[in-house]
Amino acid sequence: MSVRFVIDLLDFVRKAGRHHGKIPLSDLARIQDFLYENKGEVFYWINGIIDQEDKHCLHIQLEGELCLCCQRCLGSLPHTLDIKTSLLVVENESELIQTDTDDSVDAILATVDMDVLKLVEDEIILSLSISSRHNEGECEIHKPEYYQPTEISSSKKNPFAVLKTLKKTQH
Ligand SMILES: [Zn+2]
Repeated sequence: MSVRFVIDLLDFVRKAGRHHGKIPLSDLARIQDFLYENKGEVFYWINGIIDQEDKHCLHIQLEGELCLCCQRCLGSLPHTLDIKTSLLVVENESELIQTDTDDSVDAILATVDMDVLKLVEDEIILSLSISSRHNEGECEIHKPEYYQPTEISSSKKNPFAVLKTLKKTQH
């Protein structure tokens, strides 16, 4: 496990805080379901900024090379993580509800013990849920190494058919 980095969010922004680090993918428990291979790391940059309108913002930048598991064929899907996002830091629940109605603004509630790892994890999950599958026609099903030629030609299109056949021959 890497060392947890915890920030007082509002204080961090007021002081124009900057933090940069890296997190091994294996430390991000909630990302595991998306991964084909649990290796690599995510680099992150977090900057606290007070904008022209005197609003507290948190800029987050994430970079990394991930090997995702395609949600369609369950095969390996290389993915370059490149996220730049800005969150409006709000001080209470009612402000949070107000900004919720505005789709153009993502808000985050200021806490004194914001876990950077959790923050990074949240942003990755948000981005992955829409991009974790191959493009049309690029799934593993078309690649021969996953479907060794067998005498059962009809099974090529369906991995479960292979399992069924195996079961039958075992009994
Ligand atoms: Zn696929």
